Amino acid sequence: MFCVKYRETVPNLTIYSDITYLMGVGPKKAETLRKELNIATIKDLLYYFPYKHIDRSRFHKINEIDAEMPYIQIKGRIVSFSLHGQKYKERLVAIFADETGSIELLWFKGIKWIQQNLKSNKEYIVFGKPGRFGNKINIIHPEVEEPEQAEKQLSTGLQPVYSVPEKLKKNYITSKVISKLIINAIKSLPGNIPETLPPYLINQLKFMPLNTAIKQMHFPDNQALLKNAIARLKFEELFYIQIHLLKQKLIRKEKFRGFVFEKVGDKFNNFYHNNLPFELTGAQKKVIKEIRKDLGSGKQMNRLLQGDVGSGKTLVALMVMLIAIDNGYQCSLMAPTEILAKQHYNSITKMLEGLGVGVQLLTGSTKTKERKLIHKGLINNEINILIGTHALIEDTVKFYNLGLVIIDEQHRFGVAQRAKLWKKNISPPHVLVMTATPIPRTLAMTLYGDLDVSIIDELPPGRKPVKTVHMFDSKRLRLFSFLKEQIKAGRQVYIVYPLIKESETLDYKDLEDGYESITRAFPPPEYTVAVVHGQMKADEKEKAMQLFVKGQAQIMVSTTVIEVGVDVPNATVMVIESAEKFGLSQLHQLRGRVGRGAEQSWCILMSSYKLSNEARKRIQTMVQSTDGFEIAEVDLKLRGPGDLEGTQQSGIAFNLKLANLAKDTKILEFARNKAIEILKQDPKMETFDNKVIAEQLKQKSMQTIQWGLIS
Ligand code: ADP
Ligand code: MG
Repeated sequence: MFCVKYRETVPNLTIYSDITYLMGVGPKKAETLRKELNIATIKDLLYYFPYKHIDRSRFHKINEIDAEMPYIQIKGRIVSFSLHGQKYKERLVAIFADETGSIELLWFKGIKWIQQNLKSNKEYIVFGKPGRFGNKINIIHPEVEEPEQAEKQLSTGLQPVYSVPEKLKKNYITSKVISKLIINAIKSLPGNIPETLPPYLINQLKFMPLNTAIKQMHFPDNQALLKNAIARLKFEELFYIQIHLLKQKLIRKEKFRGFVFEKVGDKFNNFYHNNLPFELTGAQKKVIKEIRKDLGSGKQMNRLLQGDVGSGKTLVALMVMLIAIDNGYQCSLMAPTEILAKQHYNSITKMLEGLGVGVQLLTGSTKTKERKLIHKGLINNEINILIGTHALIEDTVKFYNLGLVIIDEQHRFGVAQRAKLWKKNISPPHVLVMTATPIPRTLAMTLYGDLDVSIIDELPPGRKPVKTVHMFDSKRLRLFSFLKEQIKAGRQVYIVYPLIKESETLDYKDLEDGYESITRAFPPPEYTVAVVHGQMKADEKEKAMQLFVKGQAQIMVSTTVIEVGVDVPNATVMVIESAEKFGLSQLHQLRGRVGRGAEQSWCILMSSYKLSNEARKRIQTMVQSTDGFEIAEVDLKLRGPGDLEGTQQSGIAFNLKLANLAKDTKILEFARNKAIEILKQDPKMETFDNKVIAEQLKQKSMQTIQWGLIS
C-alpha cells in the first residue's frame, strides 16, 4: 500500500504550502479536507479554529460529579462489564470506580471494539459529559485513554474541539486528528507565522503577535490568553473588511466622475411651490440636502437612504429625481415587485400632475407595442422618469442620458442586476439605494461600508403609533367582531398568511383555508374580500389590488406580496396569521402598511399557544416597540447576521470566522475607526509602516462581491 510520509526534505515550508506536505496528510485526506472544510493550505488549516475548548487541567472525583456538569475527566479503573438488552439494541455498561465511588459508562455502539480493547482493573482516564438515568449518574460514549497516552496529550490544559462534518468522521478525521495536524503544522513551519498587522498597530493596541495568537487559539495556556488571541483575530478580521470597503470608496470617488447637477430648476421649484401635498419633515429636508450636495460634487454618488417604514422615502426620491431632470438628465426608479412599481407610478404621476414631466411604467407585463413606444421615448428623451421592475435593466432598455438611478427596497435586488444599471450611460449614473426597513448600524457599516448613508429619523407628523396586540388563535371570534366594527366605521383590513400551500410538517394557517373561513365570516354582498398571492398572474393581482385601493373591497387577504411598500391610508388593521412564522423585519414591514392615515391603527399578531422562545421574543418585541431601528437591532441579535436579508448577497457575514456582527459591535466600531484613521494619513497605503496592510489587502481574496461596482 502506498502511504504518503512526512516529507522532511521539503525545503521552505510556508503557510502557503499545500497540506499534503504535512505528516499524516495523504491525497485522500487532503481531498476530504479541501472539499468539506475548504482547507487546502497550511494557512487554511491554522485558521480552522476550534469552536470550544474543554478543560483537561484537572481530574474530578467521582463522588463530586453531578449530571449538570460540563465535560469532565476522571481517573480510575473499570470494575466490571455487563451487556444488556437484545441483539441490535444492546448496551454495554462498565462500572468505573475511583477511591471515592463509582459511575456507569455506557456504550450503544462499537461495543465489540470496547470489549476487545478495554480491560478490567486497569487504570484509565475517562472523559465525557455526565448525564443521568433514573437516579444513576452515567457517561454515555466516553473517551477512554490510558494514562501514558494522556501524558502524550497535545495539551493537558484547555483542549480544542473542532467541528467535524460527518463526511470527515467517516474518513477517520476526528477533532483529535485535526488538532494533531495543527500541531504538526505549527512544528513544521521553519519560522514564525508571518505577521499580518503592522508593528505600530500591534504595539498601540497591545495585541499579541499573530504567531502567538494562532497558537493560543488552538492550544491556549489559559483562558485569559485565549481571550486575548480571540480579540486580536476578531479585530483583524473586521479591520480588513473595513479598510477594504473604505478604500473601495476612496478609489471609486477618485475614479468615477459624476454628472454634475448644479442647479435647482423649474421642475423642482414648481413642484415644491405648487404640488407638494404636505410640509416636508425636518429629516426629509436634511437628507435631500445631503443628496443634493453629492449630486453637485462632480463625484458619482453612491448613497444609502435609510428610513423606517412610512418615513416618506418616496417623496425624497421624487424630489431628487426632479433635480436630475432640471439638469437635463433622465432617472429610473426600480422597485422589487410589479405591485409596488405600479403604485409608485400612480402616486408619482399624480404628484407631478401639470408639471410636464414624462413618466412611464415598464414591467414584465408591459405589452410589446407599448414597450416599443417606451424604448423610443427613452432614446428621444421624451421620458424623464422610468419606473419599473427588473424589466428596467434589460439590455434593450436604452436611455438618452440616464443620470440617476433609485433603487427602492434594495435588498430584493441581486447584485448582478444592479451592475447592469451602471452601464446604461457612458459614465455611471448616480445611485440612491433605499432600504425597506432600517438595518442595524453595525450591519450597515459592513454591508454598505463603502456607501454614504443618509437617515430619515423622523416620521411625518400626526401619525398615531400603531397599536400592536398578540392574540391566540382561540380568540378568533373576538377578532372577527373587532374587524366588523372597524369595517363598519369605514376602515379596511389586511389579513396576511405566511404560506400559500399547506405544509406537511408545519401547521400554519394556509391562505386558501383562511380565505374560505373569512368569506364565511364576512359574506357577500355585505362584504367584499380581495385576495392576492404570489402565484397569481400580474393582471389578476393588479385587479385585486385595485379593488382594495379603491375601497371596493374591505378586506385584503394576502400572502406577503403586500409586505413591501403598499400604501392604502384607509387601511387601519393588519392581521398577521401565524405571526410566529415571520421574521421581525417582515413583521415590522407588514405593520408599516397601516397607520398611514389619521385614524388609530392596529396590528394584530395571531399565533398558536405553542411558541418557541425566539418566536415569543419576536412577538414581544413587536408589541413593545414601533421603532424600526430598535427592532432591527433585536432582529440581528436573535438571528445573527447570516440570516438577515441582504447579507446573503454580500457574502460578507459568511466570510467571518470569528467575529459576529451582532455581538462584536464594539470591536467593529473600533476597527472601522482605526481603518478611517489610517486611511486618512495614508490613503494609498504607501508608507513603509503600512506595507503589511497593503500586502494583506492585495492577498485577501475578498470573496465579497465588489460592492464598489454595483451600488
Ligand atoms: P416609505 O419610507 O416607507 O417608503 P412612503 O414614501 O411610502 O414611506 O410614505 C408613507 C406615507 O407618508 C405616504 O402616504 C406619503 O404620502 C406620506 N408622507 C410622506 N412624506 C410626508 C410628509 N412630509 N408629511 C406627511 N405625509 C407624508
Ligand atoms: Mg417605500
